Amino acid sequence: MLELKDITAGYDRRAPAVRGAHLTLHPGESLGLLGPSGCGKSTLARVAALLHRPDRGTVTLDGHAVTGFSHRAPRSLRTSVGVVFQQPRLAADPRLRLRDLVAEPLRATGRRTEAAARVTELAERVGLGADLLSRRPHEVSDGQLQRACLARALALRPRWLVCDEMTAMLDASTTAGLVAVVEDYRAETGAGLLAVGHDPVLLGRWCGRTTHWDEIVKD
Ligand code: ADP
Ligand code: ADP
Repeated sequence: MLELKDITAGYDRRAPAVRGAHLTLHPGESLGLLGPSGCGKSTLARVAALLHRPDRGTVTLDGHAVTGFSHRAPRSLRTSVGVVFQQPRLAADPRLRLRDLVAEPLRATGRRTEAAARVTELAERVGLGADLLSRRPHEVSDGQLQRACLARALALRPRWLVCDEMTAMLDASTTAGLVAVVEDYRAETGAGLLAVGHDPVLLGRWCGRTTHWDEIVKD
């Protein structure tokens, strides 16, 4: 279970971006979180992905309390959540070839020997042509780069996925393709999903349940 309780978080303690947010995701569940631009969705997505430490509240992941860590959550917990962001160009090191981008989490966790084979398998899974793996981010389209970022998020076979406006920059057919990749992965592994966005039609079709920002923030 992924549980966020009474989360207050942001960049300035005097004016937090998120105040008193609550979210519960059961294993295997998919939840779409809707809300207007600037309301705090990305900040909360980063808290759920264990990338941003809240100022108040508790995060519990599969029975482990994640909050209370001094700087970052322990790696063993961070690696059970894969995350994809809205802008792949900000989320990808521009110097890395796509194969190295996809392999980042494998290398970071010491799985170098299996990395090459896993990258080939992941590229296939996300529909990224093998010829693109030797290119750098500026040599591919946003859609291709987002496929690589999704492959990176799946590299460690996470039990949870956080997709923050994953398809906001992409056309309809690329959007459908990436959603299908996520859903195939979930069908295979039973992973849970938090999808953040602003499009009720997309999230309504994609997720088992949707909720609006106003419903999760109880001030
Ligand atoms: P949403 O995803 O709903 O558009 P965000 O979580 O991105 O909302 O932003 C919530 C608020 O936090 C906004 O007022 C935004 O300007 C501010 N904010 C977001 N990221 C940063 C940052 N890195 N530094 C300072 N303020 C930020
Ligand atoms: P560090 O060595 O700084 O502790 P991490 O263990 O967080 O780094 O991860 C190493 C790299 O792998 C990061 O640069 C990040 O891009 C990527 N990565 C790790 N975990 C994930 C994930 N869950 N989703 C997407 N990318 C990840």
